[in-house]
Amino acid sequence: MRLVVLGGGESGVGTAILGKKQGYDVFVSDFGKIKESYKEVLIINKIAWEEEQHTEDLILNADVVMKSPGIPDKSPIVKKLVAAGIKVISEIEFAIPYTEAMTIGITGSNGKTTTTMLTHHLLKYAGLNVGLGGNIGKSFAWQVAENKYDAYVLELSSFQLDGIINYRPDIAIITNISPDHLDRYEYKYENYINSKFRITMNQTESDYLIYDADDEATTEWLKKNKTKAKLIPFSLTKKFDEGASIKNNKMEIKINQEEFTMDTEHIALEGKHNMKNAMAASSVAKLMQIRNATIRESLSNFQGVEHRLEKVLKIQNVQYINDSKATNVNATFFALDSMNAPTVWIVGGVDKGNDYNELMSLVREKVKAIICLGIDNRKIIDAFGNVVDIMVEVNNMNDAVKTAQRLTEKGDVVLLSPACASFDLFENYEDRGKQFKQAVHNL
Ligand code: ADP
Repeated sequence: MRLVVLGGGESGVGTAILGKKQGYDVFVSDFGKIKESYKEVLIINKIAWEEEQHTEDLILNADVVMKSPGIPDKSPIVKKLVAAGIKVISEIEFAIPYTEAMTIGITGSNGKTTTTMLTHHLLKYAGLNVGLGGNIGKSFAWQVAENKYDAYVLELSSFQLDGIINYRPDIAIITNISPDHLDRYEYKYENYINSKFRITMNQTESDYLIYDADDEATTEWLKKNKTKAKLIPFSLTKKFDEGASIKNNKMEIKINQEEFTMDTEHIALEGKHNMKNAMAASSVAKLMQIRNATIRESLSNFQGVEHRLEKVLKIQNVQYINDSKATNVNATFFALDSMNAPTVWIVGGVDKGNDYNELMSLVREKVKAIICLGIDNRKIIDAFGNVVDIMVEVNNMNDAVKTAQRLTEKGDVVLLSPACASFDLFENYEDRGKQFKQAVHNL
């Protein structure tokens, strides 16, 4: 059997290694350059590869193709493969038949990484032999090839879900759904929502789907469509016979006749959105029969994830917070919502069709100054010009941070939460967050 892998990054190389181990004739093709370290791995494992081209003769003879998530369906080579009737699948789909491990699949528009890391932390802390994969860390297929774990927590983007056929997570989480990446979905929100729900399409009565019962897109889909999975809702406002909720600053989970409670003040993560992430992750822990004391301990010692409401430094009693991963309005909504001091807000970048109205009342209530950093400032100025007295435009992160410092007084917060993509001034959101932290340290 010939396996062609499109894309020579982490998931591509991992798939190639697993394919080779399973006896496939493997070929890796990348239209860009392949990292030196990955090339070495391919060479050591005697796997054929090419870069900066897609040689059709070597690709269109595949029995199966693994497409890396970054390659869009509309790219010419993918179109040709589909036209030729060749199966094009994702890394997860390729790897899953080669492991007996159970999987927890986590998708959603925001909160995937945080919920994945937290779930992994909870299970690992409880002593389970559990791996982490999907969009983060080491390739899932690579780990399957190494046969290391009994369970995996997988962060699954909609692109990865588009490439599944039979994959069936034992436990699925949809954190929430709001418009994102619509350019890859013919600008139809419905297509994007359906793509997220692919996570549950193969689930059976013995599986679980954990979801946000406060989320409109999710609840609407569930009203109109069916899943065989057992539903476990979580909510900040509603209570359930079976599910997770928060009442009077207490998290309560009821699952399979068992109960879990915890005062939210002891949860290390902050903000309403993180309470949702904590409910989702703890529901998994309850389904896996982790002891309540262990869940409590791990929720209280989880230190969060870099670039997500990350506390950087306090300088002259001003707290600097890096939320560079907030690349859409919904993520920034929760960031602003969790601020409890006058906020100097650094915002902007590449606009993704943002509707800033959703932020209006939070900005009115919490923001004392706005610093616009990006190419699409006009829209931000138009939206908030009449709401916030001080609006400044800057061209680089150092100026943004220095200006922010000038505008603060004791007790204030400086929040980088851009609500936009980062590709105008930065390599990616990590680069943006790192530059922010460096600039803060330089103060
Ligand atoms: P993802 O992997 O889905 O992009 P992250 O955990 O990396 O999610 O968080 C992305 C951004 O969204 C961060 O700014 C974070 O603070 C915010 N966020 C995290 N969880 C949620 C949630 N449940 N709802 C809304 N925003 C969230």
